[in-house]
Amino acid sequence: MKCITGKKCHETEELAEEALIENHIHFNHPKGSGPINIYLCEHCGHYHFTSQGEPHYILEEKASYIAAQKRARDWEYRLR
Ligand SMILES: [Zn+2]
Repeated sequence: MKCITGKKCHETEELAEEALIENHIHFNHPKGSGPINIYLCEHCGHYHFTSQGEPHYILEEKASYIAAQKRARDWEYRLR
């Protein structure tokens, strides 16, 4: 299943939110860049990331979780 926007599709809002959190754990987006929200696509009916508009509340809500996961990843990397 592919969308004409070429963006990755997330089947539900919940899955898109999880993926957004994962994305912020795995990539060090400088402040003001990277995907910050999700939206329902009118072309495919699935959810995509967007870097436009206001940040999703879940990024604020999960900020400490994201930071903790990042630190955990840093340690894994150093111990390799
Ligand atoms: Zn789409």
